[in-house]
Amino acid sequence: MEDVGKGLRAYSERKGVQERYTALMNIVLADTDVKSFIQLHKDELTQEDIEKSYPKLYEFVQEKKKFLNNDPTMIAPGYEPQLILNFHYIDVAYVPTETLLQQRMEEEVRKRINLLDLPRDIQNASISGFENTSGRGEALISALDFIESYKHDPRNYHKGLYLVGSFGVGKTYLLGAIAHELAIDGFESTIVHFPTFAVTMKNAIDKGQVGEKMDVVKKAPILMLDDIGADSLSSWLRDDILGVILQHRMQEQLPTLFSSNFTLDELEKHLSTTQKGEHEPLKAKRIMERIRYLAKEIEMTGKNRRNG
Ligand code: ADP
Ligand code: MG
Repeated sequence: MEDVGKGLRAYSERKGVQERYTALMNIVLADTDVKSFIQLHKDELTQEDIEKSYPKLYEFVQEKKKFLNNDPTMIAPGYEPQLILNFHYIDVAYVPTETLLQQRMEEEVRKRINLLDLPRDIQNASISGFENTSGRGEALISALDFIESYKHDPRNYHKGLYLVGSFGVGKTYLLGAIAHELAIDGFESTIVHFPTFAVTMKNAIDKGQVGEKMDVVKKAPILMLDDIGADSLSSWLRDDILGVILQHRMQEQLPTLFSSNFTLDELEKHLSTTQKGEHEPLKAKRIMERIRYLAKEIEMTGKNRRNG
């Protein structure tokens, strides 16, 4: 008795499974994409081929639903399921969507903008997002000139920009926008917050890392020194760090840009006095000769854009 009951139960369970399976497949086969795919390939697919492909058709319908609802999926987000014919067998391919490709491209662009001690949102600054006001028009035109001439002939030297203006006028933003524009064409820039870099260098002495830390900046294909002159420098930082970096940039003809609250003349005065109060105008003059060689001074005026 018992054996018969067991067999019966197993039979009806199997039958249940079979019914559920058939019901499920009817839903799958009613899917418009599945229907049109089978219709499209009806000459290449036998009934047996289609039945063999049921698990894949089921996967397709499930994943499509998740994709359309933005539900979590086993597959990486941003991939859209598509039916493909794989020699008498229907398969599901996952193709990256336009949005995903766009995101990847933007990530590639951002990766070409190296930031040393600057907030990451600078990577999103753009020329098209740069609001042109009368006090900033010349800076914008010079930026466009620089971008164009560099893109056109990256192997040759291009004089950079020295952006001067008060706090919050958009100097750092414009440097970021230039880097972004060049990154779209595959060029790498390094933007350095100079006052923080100076502190980093001082701390690198004990760790024996001065050389390697300086090399990153010295050899950057395009270098932007942000906020130069914000703090007073020791003679070591001025002559052996800043001076050496600028000397290398000149010798190797590498484009270099700056931003500062000081005009070139004011910076010269500022650099003439060291942190310890020593007066060294000749040393300052040597630095300024290099900066003047590397960059053209452009003034930016306007309101402080920080905090609205
Ligand atoms: P600065 O370096 O001259 O002190 P910032 O570049 O840091 O000024 O700009 C100050 C603020 O204004 C930042 O939050 C920056 O994102 C914003 N900003 C500056 N210029 C623009 C612009 N053209 N379009 C949009 N936002 C800007
Ligand atoms: Mg700034």
